[in-house]
Amino acid sequence: MSKSVFEKIIDREIPAAIVYEDDLVLAFRDVNAKAPVHVLIVPKKIIPRLAEAVPADSQVLGHLLLKAAEVAGRLGLAKTGYRLVINNGPDGGETVPHLHCHILGGRPMAWPPG
Ligand code: 5GP
Repeated sequence: MSKSVFEKIIDREIPAAIVYEDDLVLAFRDVNAKAPVHVLIVPKKIIPRLAEAVPADSQVLGHLLLKAAEVAGRLGLAKTGYRLVINNGPDGGETVPHLHCHILGGRPMAWPPG
């Protein structure tokens, strides 16, 4: 199967503005930012979407969320707050089939989302 754009970013085949990396996850700025701060954090393991995660992925999923909070803090969002979004499937608005969590901040977020 061909690589998703996020696999290509993980493998350094296409450039991205990386803000955090460790053994399990990579965080980089969204190329089409929807907020003053818009970062994507992705597991390095190929999990197409949350619905396809399995119990063996529990550690990486927990790590992803903990690191999302840490990255948000590093980007100066801890005090003002931020939103984490995971789009799953067509109705969820998923466009890249590699699990990713959006970190959005730097402005107040509306609710409910569109
Ligand atoms: P989704 O709609 O799947 O939840 O989010 C995919 C996100 O990936 C979108 O916000 C889109 O702007 C971002 N994106 C798509 N292609 C690239 C790319 O090549 N580089 C970066 N940095 N972000 C991308």
